[in-house]
Amino acid sequence: MPIDATLPYDDQNIFAKILRDEIPSSRVYEDEWAIAFHDIAPHAPTHILVIPRGSYVSWDDFSARASEAEIAGFVRAVGHVAREAGAVEPGYRLLANIGPDAGQEVPHLHVHILAGKPLGPMLT
Ligand code: ADP
Repeated sequence: MPIDATLPYDDQNIFAKILRDEIPSSRVYEDEWAIAFHDIAPHAPTHILVIPRGSYVSWDDFSARASEAEIAGFVRAVGHVAREAGAVEPGYRLLANIGPDAGQEVPHLHVHILAGKPLGPMLT
């Protein structure tokens, strides 16, 4: 069920549990600000999710409340993970779903890194 991105943060969401190592994930990266792991149901040969360590429901919540250091650390982590995945050439897509119309399912901000095949146009 898509989530209401205006709700308060729920620390029992599945990505919060992954952050706390309460459930397994295939981590590819972690630092002070973010962790990254393979999506369990990949839509491309490379499909990695990057999430901030802080408790943010969505990009909207993050961009409004996070500190400059958290924002910088998270953005740098996304770029680093994409480079480490070898996605820069021939290219990759970043995607963040925010709220019900976008189909956000997990109420912890996550950026999808999609790569490894021609991804086609995606404006809607
Ligand atoms: P959507 O499912 O519509 O893409 P989101 O943008 O909220 O909505 O994406 C949630 C993503 O989290 C999905 O791509 C899903 O496959 C992935 N996912 C859900 N549970 C896990 C998990 N335990 N480990 C890794 N990825 C997961």
